[in-house]
Amino acid sequence: MEKDKNYDLAILGSGPGGYVAAVRAGQLGLKTVVIEKETQFGGTCLHVGCIPSKVFLYTAELLDRLGNIKDQGIVVDGFRLDWASLLKRKERIIKKNAAGIAYLFRKNNVETLTGFGRISGSGMLEVETSTGVVNVTARNIIVATGSSPRSLPNLEIDETSILSNSEMLSLKSQPNTIGVIGAGAVGVEFASMFHSFGTKVVLIELMPRILPIEDEDVSVSLLDSFRKRGIETFSGTTVSNVSTVESGMEIQFVKPDGTADKRVVEKILVAIGRKACTENIGLERAGVELNRGNVVVNEFMETASKGIYAIGDIVATQQLAHVASAEGIVAVEHIAGLAVCGLNYGHIPGATYCSPEVGSVGLTESAAKERGYDVCIGKFPFSASPKAAILGENEGFVKVVSEAKYGELLGVHIIGPHATDLIAEAVVAIEHGATVDSLVHTVHAHPTLSESVAEAAQSVPDIVVHA
Ligand code: FAD
Repeated sequence: MEKDKNYDLAILGSGPGGYVAAVRAGQLGLKTVVIEKETQFGGTCLHVGCIPSKVFLYTAELLDRLGNIKDQGIVVDGFRLDWASLLKRKERIIKKNAAGIAYLFRKNNVETLTGFGRISGSGMLEVETSTGVVNVTARNIIVATGSSPRSLPNLEIDETSILSNSEMLSLKSQPNTIGVIGAGAVGVEFASMFHSFGTKVVLIELMPRILPIEDEDVSVSLLDSFRKRGIETFSGTTVSNVSTVESGMEIQFVKPDGTADKRVVEKILVAIGRKACTENIGLERAGVELNRGNVVVNEFMETASKGIYAIGDIVATQQLAHVASAEGIVAVEHIAGLAVCGLNYGHIPGATYCSPEVGSVGLTESAAKERGYDVCIGKFPFSASPKAAILGENEGFVKVVSEAKYGELLGVHIIGPHATDLIAEAVVAIEHGATVDSLVHTVHAHPTLSESVAEAAQSVPDIVVHA
């Protein structure tokens, strides 16, 4: 039976922006359709981003643990990475989650259309499906088409030797050597996991430090840790040329002191950022304003064209799955006429799952100083945490950035065991305007890693007990 093609809301894209928006719209009783060009739902995050990379990183972590397990009183005789099983496990997890999204759509009466969609007029979309073009009308449209990897003229992704995250997560066999260009979250995660797999890794970053948007102390600590682990890492370094040689791909680069160097690797991962997918989907014709390739939106995620919203990686906010989802909810609730506030982008947690992990929220020390705050810092090393000692993971610290007069928490930066989970406490604290004092006087369970957050706060007024 032919579907009714008139909707309250049509959503282009089923990534964490689009599918969460759709579920919320269904909950609010909006007649909703999701248009997705791929055969499975979930977008970059589920298929070639957050989820598969964390599956790989978890296996990497287990390998590291097994390598050190004798220290914990267990003798394991012989273990190795089984690449084929790892790929199968990754596929199983993706499939299960994609099926979960399909279930959520059914549960919330969200309809779906498979095909490439574009805006064709006011409140109208055309969708190229396998059986022809389908026209859809909707009172509101949310564009959630995500992003794709950037490349450079001398570093064009060819999907064979010069790869993006997508190919890297589906390699038929484990490479012996890789070069990773770019040491943002994606680059350091791949460098970390492949090193743990036993691949020889060279990591090259143009900016003066790795994880350049994190607090400087975190970057320094991660660099130190990577070098100790044997990940060859160059920051402040420009890739001058990449060419094919007999034994693989040769990366030529210029180091900060001006000296040239080169490495030959089997595969190169380009992880220099992602660009918004805004082309060929009818945005300009619909009067949607773009700025440097990103869709311009107001606090409710509405574009310059009334009734058209944009969320996730195509807008100029943090390119993170949880940001995309939160923006989707803001947009839908605005469409439904609910009282809604825009997001506070200063309170979005960052989580990088390399080893050691990094979690952060709020201002870095230098950003707080640039904004004119009289800054007070508290720091607690995991080397003084009994729980970290039990886990055998003593690296890293919790750093609290606060302002002197009222003790307002401005930022918390964690590098070390379970940093990506530990940061949640700091996010709640900062979101609710907590002070250093409120963290100091919150009793934390013992022995836990979370005690380190409280102890970092205690070190602001210099009343820390264990360091
Ligand atoms: P996407 O997830 O990209 O989804 C867009 C969807 O739109 C896709 O399914 C696409 O097929 C569809 N689409 C595009 N154009 C059309 C069209 N014209 N018609 C129909 N469908 C269309 N973020 C985190 O928060 N945590 C992490 O750990 C993390 N790890 C990452 C690891 C890697 C390797 C990468 C690359 C990214 C990672 N990210 C992570 C970022 C995260 O994946 C993105 O921020 C998130 O996926 C953005 O969601 P989105 O809904 O905006 O877009």
